[in-house]
Amino acid sequence: MSRTLIRGGLVITAAEEVHADVLVEDERVVALAATGSTVAEGWTADTVIDAAGKYVIPGGVDAHTHMELPFGGTFASDTFETGTRAAAWGGTTTIVDFAVQSVGESLRAGLDSWHAKADAQCAIDYGFHMILSDVNEDTLKEMDILVEEGVTSFKLFMAYPGVFYSDDGRILRAMQRGADNGGLIMMHAENGIAIDVLVEQALAAGRTDPRYHGEVRRELLEAEATHRAVRLAQVAGSPLYVVHVSARQAVEQITLARDEGLNVFGETCPQYLFLSTDNLAEPDFEGAKYVCSTPLRPREHQAALWRGLRTNDLQVVSTDHCPFCFVGQKELGRGDFSKIPNGLPGVENRMDLLHQAVVDGHISRRRWIEIACATPARMFGLYPRKGTIAPGADADIVVYDPDAEQVVSAATHHMNVDYSAYEGKHLRGKARTVISRGTVVVDQDRYLGRAGHGRYQTRETCQYLV
Ligand SMILES: [Zn+2]
Repeated sequence: MSRTLIRGGLVITAAEEVHADVLVEDERVVALAATGSTVAEGWTADTVIDAAGKYVIPGGVDAHTHMELPFGGTFASDTFETGTRAAAWGGTTTIVDFAVQSVGESLRAGLDSWHAKADAQCAIDYGFHMILSDVNEDTLKEMDILVEEGVTSFKLFMAYPGVFYSDDGRILRAMQRGADNGGLIMMHAENGIAIDVLVEQALAAGRTDPRYHGEVRRELLEAEATHRAVRLAQVAGSPLYVVHVSARQAVEQITLARDEGLNVFGETCPQYLFLSTDNLAEPDFEGAKYVCSTPLRPREHQAALWRGLRTNDLQVVSTDHCPFCFVGQKELGRGDFSKIPNGLPGVENRMDLLHQAVVDGHISRRRWIEIACATPARMFGLYPRKGTIAPGADADIVVYDPDAEQVVSAATHHMNVDYSAYEGKHLRGKARTVISRGTVVVDQDRYLGRAGHGRYQTRETCQYLV
């Protein structure tokens, strides 16, 4: 048995902040005791980590990543190996990635191929959601089996006709099944049929630059789809989790649904909180770096997202990490914004950007941990193994220096992508020591982890249903 003692830090969870020493045996937290108390002073350990002046926080849980995702004739540039290593650098110790069912294929085949990509590659723990591209009698039955096996959430798309898109009838069937088997339906809520018309019209009129990606994917078409998803879920009696909410009007739809007492949840992402259509409009095709869907919105929308996070109308911040290099990948869309692969890198930056939000006064420290660790763990059936620091929890712990200064840059980040969406941004705070299931994987700017340490996590169903 190995014992690790984290001494003298401020332990922050979603529930409280306490000056405590944390005792870890092998892979688990076994006890906390007040710093300086007789109990804590009596503890001995093989490894003692001095956390004086630092925060001791649960490892981040990023519930929305796309390692190696095939998209638009190319693949997201982070593998499970490089992407989870970058996540660890940034203080994230669990990801939930999206296995993809292709049209005509079984859920099982899709899940198996994502296991094959991730197996023995990950630096940190990981689980899978399942993308349902083809809702039919067979795949509906497979949903039941997957829920039993610990794949308890299913993503559907109202966008991307001809690829991931499901019509309202298919969405309703999947939601009905989720209402029966406990699976949580996650929704990409944008009216893709209408958007495709606007894309075609924009291109025909010669509006081909990246900024038009943002203009055709109208706020109202996100809000309309969000509204429709809410009502379909209400009819089916199923819970609903809306991914990557970016428009103020979509937040309003989620707020309304929650005020009605529905099991509707909303996620947003750092790019919507920190970036805007100003980035999409950057000259010389640089705007392509910021093409993702839902798109970045005008800066005014950020206030509604921060407010939603404070009032719990939005519950989770995930990254939707889906990196494509500027050279050779984003460039596929020169002269036609609709051919720019959709997605941004961010898995390494989320914990730090949200800490900056604490510094800036948008959210409290405990809310930082709640939206980045505890709630995603609860939402996707990983709590209290993940998302908190408590006896019995996995020892996924970050010793975080709230006073460290850093400048974000592609030159120093660890994601396998040739640009940063936050290049040059000054941030206060940085993960100093990152522990994954009792093993130190990052310490003082050295990577100590290994591919294959990360373990696949089966998940319970959503722990938030009212
Ligand atoms: Zn996504």
